Amino acid sequence: MRIDFLTLFPDSCNTMLGESIIGRARERGILDFHFHQIRDYTENRQKQVDDYPYGGGMGMVMNAQPIADCFRAVCEQIGHRPHFIYLSPQGKTLTQKRARELAQLPEICLLCGHYEGVDERVLDAMVDEQISIGDYVLTGGELPALVLADCISRMIPGVLSDEICFTEESHFASLLEYPQYTRPAVWEGREVPPVLLSGHHENIAAWRREQSLLRTLRHRPDLLETADLTPKEKAFLEDQKRDSH
Ligand code: SAM
Repeated sequence: MRIDFLTLFPDSCNTMLGESIIGRARERGILDFHFHQIRDYTENRQKQVDDYPYGGGMGMVMNAQPIADCFRAVCEQIGHRPHFIYLSPQGKTLTQKRARELAQLPEICLLCGHYEGVDERVLDAMVDEQISIGDYVLTGGELPALVLADCISRMIPGVLSDEICFTEESHFASLLEYPQYTRPAVWEGREVPPVLLSGHHENIAAWRREQSLLRTLRHRPDLLETADLTPKEKAFLEDQKRDSH
């Protein structure tokens, strides 16, 4: 998959996505990332990318022209128009489901805003979708773009050792993952649940499923509305709810 980043900080983005699992997938050619400096597309000598907002008010607004020309250059490089996403606190909140859908696309292009944001006209003219990473405001779109790129990347075949690495994780099936433990078996007096040391795969799977249901009920009961549960599991959760009252 190819991901293009339109940003004022291409080197920082590149560095962050050059490490560990994602970095290795890039080396192996499974992920193809391109970082574009929006400033390179300005038409003024100072290479200024922002200006005062019409109507007054605090802060600066990113100009439409360099962003539009930068995106056009990406389209030309690819040979067609990639799906264009603006990272914005006003967008739809990112979910695992949306990231999974985006992972099916051959290319996406991510626009990282800064200052007070971006001239609305370039968003109207070019952007396909706005995505937020949560109901809070950051100084720039780079961290949200990195979050989105990381989340999508780990679902691209070959990036993780096995698909099960993400299909069993929190949010994939509207459930939180079961608790995880590693060596030693006793740490500061706390023991690993004995079933995990039993070697009995069926019992381990059953225990994990139950823990997953209990965690989701405790921490994110809203997720259970869309989870795929058996009648037995639904009854189990109803019992748990009754017992906790
Ligand atoms: N004035 C804007 C508003 O109130 O909606 C906020 C601008 S914010 C300070 C600067 C940039 O950071 C935005 O253009 C966007 O790219 C990025 N950003 C900030 N918070 C974000 C969030 N929660 N999700 C995605 N992008 C965000």
